[in-house]
Amino acid sequence: MQPLFIYNTVTRKKEEFKPLNPPFVGFYVCGPTLYSDVHIGNCRTFTSFDIMYRYLLHLGYKVRYVRNITDVGHLEDEVAGEGEDRIGKQARLKQLEPMEIVQRYSFGFREVMALLNTLPPSVEPTASGHIPEQIEMIEKIIENGYAYVEDGNVYFNVEKFAEHNNYGVLSGRSIEDQLNNTRELDGQEEKKGRLDFALWKKAKPEHIMRWNSPWSVGFPGWHIECSAMSQKYLGNTFDIHGGGMDLIPTHHTNEIAQSVGCCGQVPVNYWVHTNMLTLNGQKMSRSLGNVFLPVELFTGKKLSPHSPSATPSQALLEGKHPLFDKAFSPMAVRFFMMQTHYRSTLDFSNEALTASEKGFERLMDAYKTLQSIQPTDKSSEDISALLQKCYDAMNDDFNTPVLIANLFDCVRIINSCNDKKLTLTKKDIETLNTIYNDFVFQIMGLKLEEEQSKTNAVLHSVVNLLLDMRNQAKADKNFGLSDEIRNKLIEAGIQIKDSKEGSTWKLN
Ligand code: AMP
Ligand code: ZN
Repeated sequence: MQPLFIYNTVTRKKEEFKPLNPPFVGFYVCGPTLYSDVHIGNCRTFTSFDIMYRYLLHLGYKVRYVRNITDVGHLEDEVAGEGEDRIGKQARLKQLEPMEIVQRYSFGFREVMALLNTLPPSVEPTASGHIPEQIEMIEKIIENGYAYVEDGNVYFNVEKFAEHNNYGVLSGRSIEDQLNNTRELDGQEEKKGRLDFALWKKAKPEHIMRWNSPWSVGFPGWHIECSAMSQKYLGNTFDIHGGGMDLIPTHHTNEIAQSVGCCGQVPVNYWVHTNMLTLNGQKMSRSLGNVFLPVELFTGKKLSPHSPSATPSQALLEGKHPLFDKAFSPMAVRFFMMQTHYRSTLDFSNEALTASEKGFERLMDAYKTLQSIQPTDKSSEDISALLQKCYDAMNDDFNTPVLIANLFDCVRIINSCNDKKLTLTKKDIETLNTIYNDFVFQIMGLKLEEEQSKTNAVLHSVVNLLLDMRNQAKADKNFGLSDEIRNKLIEAGIQIKDSKEGSTWKLN
């Protein structure tokens, strides 16, 4: 097997990937905080890690892929660790149990991930399901002298930790620099140092999510969950830890401090970070409010009816965001995400998506053409290097844009052969099929979904035709026929709404 190189945030270099215990690979990715729907930016991150997971599987590794769900402890001001719990706040506003909020958005998250054809992780642990593990870890950190208790709260002592360890190993920032650029401790006088962060917080009376602990009835800080859960499922040191780049300075920096503070061992060998999806150059984020939800964009597939987010209007996805001319299939969006390397920003726009959709269609059309190509005895094109070039691209830090460029070489060859401009042997055709099966379908996780969208397009035109006929019948005062059309459509599971502007419909 040729070496795979992965860019490691710690060394700021591409390093050869050498798992601790081959063929096993431990892979942890910070999952979403489920207080609202995930947006397309979150999806970019999880899709990027899906491709890495798929490639590792393709190479024959036995991967344990752990992606958590944050359902407690992520406060509104995540840097200072202050403010209301994000899920607790939604529960209060919607007058629901916090776990009802989490359940609702977990359904939505899993459906969106399935629409984007991402593979489910091997373990999907929740923070609230691992309170004893977090308490145990905090106890060890206190025992080791890296944390202190103040009035029922437990804080990690960053400056003490930094005496013996590099607290800025991920961000590349010295402790002095971080101290100089952090707010004063106004209102947080319990902390000894301004970089200290909470491992456990005492619950205020109005705080809903609370557990017993040796220090107070309270709840864990946000960072400790990932240290505790990665340790539980992958061990004190494991191979790869991923997340968005925005997690480097605080969440991941503190994860390392906690794990080292607990076990004296570096927790992760390769730290991998994805860059942000942007809108007009600005990071897409729930707090900025510039988010796109997948349902506002996707067309095609039906959400499963048991999902709380599958309101009738979304039963057949018909993305209708004002910034977009039309809706896009989840596969076109997935392809769009792969056209940029995961460490570069990706700007989201109507033009870029439209161009990607065309590229995706060309790639898939060529596959269909390939199935009808007749081999000849002699090849007029040497394609022997193409398969290797695809591996070279993925081995170079999962370089999907270069992979796609190679795939378009395949497309050109297939189309030229179809136009009788070149000839291919049986072996060449096998190679091209291998490239498609391995790289397009298995590793990039793209799939032909034309049948689905074709069915939807046909359904749309047929229902619209019937509604036009019904309008005509009404205009002709043939109410028997107009009522019959309406009733038959309702019987078939279609809801019709009449208004001054005309009739609209949706699936039940
Ligand atoms: P959150 O639920 O906000 O904790 O985010 C879940 C994951 O999505 C984290 O790994 C974030 O880094 C990532 N993420 C958030 N916003 C974006 C974005 N605009 N582009 C790419 N990834 C993002
Ligand atoms: Zn995390």
